[in-house]
Amino acid sequence: MSAHEIAVHVLIWTAVATELVCCIGIVAARDTFARLHYSAAASTLGPVVIAVAIACGPKLLFADEPTTALDVTVQAQILDLIARLQSELDMAVILITHDLGVVAEVTDNIAVMYAGRIVEYADKRDIFRAPEHPYTWGLLQSIPRLDRSRDEPLVPIPGRPPSLIHPPSGCNFHPRCPYVRPRHREVDPMLEPLPDDPGHTAACLLPSETRKRLWQELSSGKPPEESREEVVGGGLT
Ligand code: SF4
Repeated sequence: MSAHEIAVHVLIWTAVATELVCCIGIVAARDTFARLHYSAAASTLGPVVIAVAIACGPKLLFADEPTTALDVTVQAQILDLIARLQSELDMAVILITHDLGVVAEVTDNIAVMYAGRIVEYADKRDIFRAPEHPYTWGLLQSIPRLDRSRDEPLVPIPGRPPSLIHPPSGCNFHPRCPYVRPRHREVDPMLEPLPDDPGHTAACLLPSETRKRLWQELSSGKPPEESREEVVGGGLT
């Protein structure tokens, strides 16, 4: 390809990219492209990356940590943009994030993953109000809440994430789970629907009624160690 042809291609694709970026709401797109030569601000690049992602009209968009390291104002703009594009382009979005605030705001259904596998799946309301997996409980208990006392300590999930090359035997979460029993170190639980809600699935060997009771106790402020004693000591089945 000659230098002249390359220059023409660059001009054409710059025009196409400018249109796409205008379409997602950056009005001064030409200025944006000019600035990109000199600046790599996340607030500028985020929408541009989204424009690149939708350039081929996908039916499914994977947004992997789209708001990481952004201030809350830009974060809100990016989430609004994704929601608007989802609706206007009739596109499904899978949002991958560790930010439970973002999850609560923009999702319909939630898959909680641990060690590369889904351990709980349900609609948003059930995950936040009636979670059934100990890892989900750990996530929810480790974030600050406005409806709790400021003196109440956050409860971190003990231990470290497992090796994915040599994962633990049985339930992958067992080395960090307060409710582990001997059988859980040998049996790998399947993702199974709850008896009373087939749309809600969890991969845990405790009976669903036991999990419901444990979550009620945890969410009313009981420390995990006390509930654990009931499980391990046989107080709960
Ligand atoms: S199967 Fe056992 S170790 Fe695994 S999450 Fe359930 S209670 Fe914890």
